[in-house]
Amino acid sequence: MSKLKAVFLDAGNTILHLDFPFIAEVLSGYGVSPSLETLERSEAVARAEVDRAHVVGTTTDYARWFYYFRLIMSHAGLTSEFDIADAYKKLEARHSVKNLWCRVPPEVPAVLAELRSKYTIGVVSNADGRIKDLLALVGLLDYFSFVVDSGQVGVEKPDPRIFQHALAAASAEPDEVVHVGDLVCVDVAGAEASGIRAVLIDPFDHHTDALCARIRNIGELPAAIARLA
Ligand SMILES: [Mg+2]
Repeated sequence: MSKLKAVFLDAGNTILHLDFPFIAEVLSGYGVSPSLETLERSEAVARAEVDRAHVVGTTTDYARWFYYFRLIMSHAGLTSEFDIADAYKKLEARHSVKNLWCRVPPEVPAVLAELRSKYTIGVVSNADGRIKDLLALVGLLDYFSFVVDSGQVGVEKPDPRIFQHALAAASAEPDEVVHVGDLVCVDVAGAEASGIRAVLIDPFDHHTDALCARIRNIGELPAAIARLA
């Protein structure tokens, strides 16, 4: 194995988390008041349910949205399908003016600073062409040497072609790179199909059967990467 040269990071649910306070506010309009912890757990369960090969293999990232948010809301206690559909419209409307993945976990800047001191770091995101603007808005863009946005390059994870863009930007070979993300069928499958090692963020141990390195949160990333390097 070659020396580790670059680290690729997914954006959503990796360095940018969902705006749970806003989702809680929307749900409160339907008489449901989940705690932020409940929403975090609901999201993780919904994510694991969406993260299946037959789901990812037959949909685009955006097409999975309603399914994903419907699951989050129902796990958080909103049971009426009419209310769920109505609430979903509010989430989509908000997303069009302010990205729903806009919360930076407090440990992220220090982790990125540490990684950047040792490796080339870049973002590889299934997004809508605006992820660079979002990273600038939340103050994270300067940590990265490059940003690959599926909305701009026209292919999305797990398609290995998106990783080719990132490898070219990093001037790295696949075995010199680690990719970090939260979805087995998107991040891990895509990276491994490209010959890149993966680290999975698995906060509630939904993927104990995964063969790649797993961490509970991004704060554990530098140690996990040191072990791989
Ligand atoms: Mg993600």
